Amino acid sequence: MKKPPIIKFNVALFTLLTLISVVGVPYWALTVGFNSFEILTTVFLFFFTGMSITAGYHRLWSHKAYDANPIVRFVLAVGGAMTLQNSILHWASDHRVHHRHVDVNDKDPYSAKRGFWFSHIGWMLREYQAARYEDYSNCKDLQKDKIVMWQHNHYVAIVLIANFGITALLGYFNGSIVGMILIAGICRIVLVHHVTFFINSLCHIWGKQTYTDANTARDNGVLALFTFGEGYHNYHHIFEYDYRNGIKWWHYDPTKWLIKSLSFIGWTRNLRKCPEDRIQQAKFTMQLQSAKENAVKKYTNADEIVAKLEAEYELLISKCNEYYNSKKRLMRIQQRQLKRTVDAIDMHTKCEELKIAFQEQRSRFNAMRTMSLQTA
Ligand SMILES: [Zn+2]
Ligand SMILES: [Zn+2]
Repeated sequence: MKKPPIIKFNVALFTLLTLISVVGVPYWALTVGFNSFEILTTVFLFFFTGMSITAGYHRLWSHKAYDANPIVRFVLAVGGAMTLQNSILHWASDHRVHHRHVDVNDKDPYSAKRGFWFSHIGWMLREYQAARYEDYSNCKDLQKDKIVMWQHNHYVAIVLIANFGITALLGYFNGSIVGMILIAGICRIVLVHHVTFFINSLCHIWGKQTYTDANTARDNGVLALFTFGEGYHNYHHIFEYDYRNGIKWWHYDPTKWLIKSLSFIGWTRNLRKCPEDRIQQAKFTMQLQSAKENAVKKYTNADEIVAKLEAEYELLISKCNEYYNSKKRLMRIQQRQLKRTVDAIDMHTKCEELKIAFQEQRSRFNAMRTMSLQTA
């Protein structure tokens, strides 16, 4: 099959940025050197812009995993633009297609079944998506978000001002505009690029299929370290609306921590989580499947073992349902009791207020009565 034409702009841009990062940056480091302020700015912008993609482009806008106030949305929109990964609207549209048609080679824009290179970067180098390039019909909700549309309509200006304007200004005050642009501007963009691209490539190749094998997505704690927590990609593909990717407290998921922290000051709200029983059951189903496959491979009496496994699994699911249903009922009762307690406290306060008002009125009445008696 003939390959679609090359997107010359993208190829030139990726090549230029890569060359500057692998040749220009080391050359500058050896001849001029980078000072600690330049390194710290790079690290800060790496986390800020990278997490603008994971917390903003991905979990907030593509999946609506939580709500955020305009300040958070504005900051994430600017940080996301600084990574040169197209506008929120475009990115989210591609990503929603990726989830809907994951691994379907002619539909998934970065299908992992087309290999590492294609899913990592190749998909952006040729006109594979020309037919639906500006079709944003799967993002009608995002088109109502004024910040999303502002960023989409002024994307190039925001990229230039936020990216190179900020780094040039910081460089000016630090004594070297070129040095700062080289490391905190260009090298940081390249790093964030590949870290994000790993989510589409390596996170669909390397790791465990803990919750589903219906697609190629994998859970990988090592990749989570490099992808701001997005390495738990198998979980993400089955429960995509969950604001967490790493669901255990010890899972390295700084994106989840950022979203949760902002909720404490009310800047993010309605953080969505998948019910625990559904997560457990997805895991048990995968465990049953691998145990059955293992039994068939190893034992001559596999049929007997499989039958026993299935019977235990059925019991496990029914006990799991019973436990979580009763837990939900208990929570509802506790909520009702709490509401009753709150109502009782309200009523008590109101009663006290009415008592004071009554006593005051009685004093006023008595005063008036005494006065009228005196007059008589
Ligand atoms: Zn994926
Ligand atoms: Zn996703």
